[in-house]
This record gives sequence, C-alpha cells and structure tokens, in this order.
Amino acid sequence: MKKKDAIFLVAVSVIIITIFSIFLLVNKNTKHDFAYIYVGYGDNLVGTVDFKNQKIIINKVDSDNYPKIIDDNKIIVLSFIEIDAHKEELEIKIDFEKRSVKVIKSSCKDQICVLQGEVTTGVIICAPGRVRIDFELRDQSDIVI
Ligand SMILES: [Zn+2]
Repeated sequence: MKKKDAIFLVAVSVIIITIFSIFLLVNKNTKHDFAYIYVGYGDNLVGTVDFKNQKIIINKVDSDNYPKIIDDNKIIVLSFIEIDAHKEELEIKIDFEKRSVKVIKSSCKDQICVLQGEVTTGVIICAPGRVRIDFELRDQSDIVI
C-alpha cells in the first residue's frame, strides 16, 4: 500500500514537472508578431510594429504630426509630459531580428520605461508619459468575436 502511494506520488510529480517544463519552453520560444503603441487615455493606438513584415505602421497622426518614423527602425511619439509648455518626445527603437522594442529616450522623471531596456514580451509602460507598448502574438484585427 505504501509503495503504491509512493509510486503514484512520483508519477504525478513527473507529469506536473513535464507539463510545467513544456509550458515554460513554449512560452519562452513564442515570438510575438506585433507590438502596439498606445498614447494618451484609453486604447488610443498610434503605431503598430509588424515584426513579421519588418515594418512600422502609423495608425493615427496627432495634431502635432506625431508619431514619426526615422531610420526605418525608430518611432517617436509625443508623450504627455510637458516641459516649458511643450509636450516631450519619447523615442522607441525596434530590432526586427530580435523582435524587441526599447524606449531609448524619454523625458519622464522616473525613467522606468528606459530602464526596462530591450523587451520582447509583455508590456512597456511610461506612466507619466501615458505611453504603453503591448506585445501580441498575432494581429488583433484578425481576431473575430
Ligand atoms: Zn517613462
């Protein structure tokens, strides 16, 4: 009886560890196809990074003519931080090979967005600047409800 219990316990442990390992491996190797850039309140989508086709798409241009694309791999958005009555630029660099996004310049005080460094999954947030970058596995517009 005791031996049976022990075998059962080992078997269950092995199954749990195996499932967990597979989950971690799949998650780690999952490449995100898109990163969405939001500025301001709510889901105000201004730019999309298409890693698959290696391009940046402008979704919405504001009254100051932002966002701007430079060198094919950088996008500058206008964050909500104001210095001397001017809104400040937030510069984002994209590495299409690594499928990563990095905030390289921001005028926010905490610099949390810049310190996040190169990101390939999850989300980048500049709370004071009201800028958010979401990584998605596939195109959100493809999802049919
Ligand atoms: Zn910031």
